[in-house]
Amino acid sequence: MKVDGQCHCGQITFEADIDPDGVRICHCTDCQTLTGSAYRVNVQTPAAAFVLRSGQPKIYIKTAESGTRRAHAFCPNCGTPVYSCTIADPPTYSLRVGCIRQRAELRPMRQIWCRSALPWSMDLRGVEQLSRQ
Ligand SMILES: [Zn+2]
Ligand SMILES: [Zn+2]
Repeated sequence: MKVDGQCHCGQITFEADIDPDGVRICHCTDCQTLTGSAYRVNVQTPAAAFVLRSGQPKIYIKTAESGTRRAHAFCPNCGTPVYSCTIADPPTYSLRVGCIRQRAELRPMRQIWCRSALPWSMDLRGVEQLSRQ
């Protein structure tokens, strides 16, 4: 599926080809901190199918508990997380679904790191719903 996206300020724009069945939620504590939210939603794209159309992301190298180092790309102006990948020669990019224009169609198929999920984030049905703030 062809998708495109941009950061909040519009400096970074991109296009990619993704498998909509590969959308997943990550509940790890790093994703909670790095998103400033309850969990992250990702989808992978092969490097050959990812095109950065404009802008130059800033890279933060994250070292995991396991020692694995990973490049996290975000907009240097507005801070929107855009993707992560291996540091050298990435075979794939893990795109942040929140900045993909077609995100409403990208329903997650899997949740990982559920052991660190915020318990309340697993069921929001009982939370009051307003159509706007
Ligand atoms: Zn931006
Ligand atoms: Zn994570």
